[in-house]
Amino acid sequence: MARPRIVIVGAGFAGYTAARKLARLSRGGAEIVLINPTDYFLYLPLLPEVATGILEPRRVTVSLAATLPGVRMILGHVDGFDLDGRMVTYRDPEGRLATLGYHRLVIAAGSVNKLLPVPGVTEYAHGFRGIPEALYLRDHITRQIEMAAGTADEVERQARCTFVVAGAGYTGTEVAAQGVLYTRDLVRHRPELHGLPRWLLLDTADRVLPSLDRRLADAADRVLRERGVELLMRTSIEQATAAGVHLSTGVYLPTRSLIWCVGVRPDPLVAGLGLPIKEGRLVVDEFLAVPGYPDVYAIGDAAAVPDLTRPGEITGMTAQHAVRQGAVVARNIAASYGRGRRRPYKHHDLGFVVDLGGLDSAANPLGVPIKGFPAKVVTRGYHLLSMPGNRVRVAADWLLDALLAPQGVQLGLVPGEAVPLDSAIPEAMPDTGMTAEKQPS
Ligand SMILES: Cc1cc2nc3c(=O)[nH]c(=O)nc-3n(C[C@H](O)[C@H](O)[C@H](O)COP(=O)(O)OP(=O)(O)OC[C@H]3O[C@@H](n4cnc5c(N)ncnc54)[C@H](O)[C@@H]3O)c2cc1C
Repeated sequence: MARPRIVIVGAGFAGYTAARKLARLSRGGAEIVLINPTDYFLYLPLLPEVATGILEPRRVTVSLAATLPGVRMILGHVDGFDLDGRMVTYRDPEGRLATLGYHRLVIAAGSVNKLLPVPGVTEYAHGFRGIPEALYLRDHITRQIEMAAGTADEVERQARCTFVVAGAGYTGTEVAAQGVLYTRDLVRHRPELHGLPRWLLLDTADRVLPSLDRRLADAADRVLRERGVELLMRTSIEQATAAGVHLSTGVYLPTRSLIWCVGVRPDPLVAGLGLPIKEGRLVVDEFLAVPGYPDVYAIGDAAAVPDLTRPGEITGMTAQHAVRQGAVVARNIAASYGRGRRRPYKHHDLGFVVDLGGLDSAANPLGVPIKGFPAKVVTRGYHLLSMPGNRVRVAADWLLDALLAPQGVQLGLVPGEAVPLDSAIPEAMPDTGMTAEKQPS
């Protein structure tokens, strides 16, 4: 008899964990297939460190093939599902369409940049979702400083030295806090730019880190202000142009750098299913199964998972939830084959860490707020423990960063047009053919 096939869409925190756990639980009894556009798992929380020159890009990737023995990898982007026929359609990197049957399906496609209907943002803002964007941003920041040093036009110089970060959640806060240190270092050998780089962090909320513990936010606020980052709360972008941004307060800021950290929304793949959606996420029950389709599960940012610790609410879009949901879905799928008992997803928040660059962090492990160097140790220790691989390389980069100045050079590997802000829309690829792999009987 053919082995059951379990197809997982997306190799982020949720899908990666589900695949690893299923491979262990099934011990070869099931065929586990993981479909993902890249051959690596991306450790997103360290992406701001790639954009600000602390970590080399490969450090935050973990090879799927090397770390997921017993899992069959398919490089591809899933375009759609036939839930009644139990088929997944995907496009491979060369644009060929293929279909794949399944016995159990796990949708773990994560999230994409949240776009707001603000004129000019899609064209002029720089997003922040993957390695290409982080590399592009690092080059862009470096280039602005270099061009500012090369111009005799004082207005242009000031504009190029002005960096506006929209969104003061954990990503925006980390980018601003680490970015100001990066540009400070870049101007060290350019006396004409001393004191010029200006970083502004804005949000419609009344404080930074609006969704996190107040004490954590206060610690981050203090560090940002000490570094000279201007905090514009209760402020939004009205319009972005090639030369600057208009703010809701009526202020116009000449800048070439609008960094978009406004948040994420679930992958539009789930909206196309025509199934119940909550806050853009696919509704699942507490066992992570899609109502009406007991063989289909959804987890992570893409899923609206009931939060049993806060009745009536759904779990937040965090790596912590995604990882734990990946482990629970694996158990529940094993239980659907008679191995063990299925169990509902219930997880209490264990705290959060925010790396502010230099020797500073803010964290609240198990609800206990800490800041400064002790928080830094906790933050870095947490990341090292949470990464499924590459820990020694990451630690080595951190050590080098502590001892040496960052390398402020552009690599020019990623052209601007390769990193559109709306990363939800994959590059149009020609239909070059269709292959079909039917569901095993
Ligand atoms: C810059 C940044 C920093 C963050 N920092 C933190 C932090 O410090 N702490 C924290 O808890 N959370 C953080 N988050 C949030 C956290 O990373 C997410 O909540 C978490 O990644 C969700 O996991 P996931 O598996 O659902 O999605 P993801 O990790 O986003 O993985 C989704 C995967 O699905 C793939 N995929 C997407 N569409 C398709 C498709 N159609 N077909 C096939 N594959 C597809 C993607 O390529 C990706 O590999 C951060 C997010 C960002 C963007």
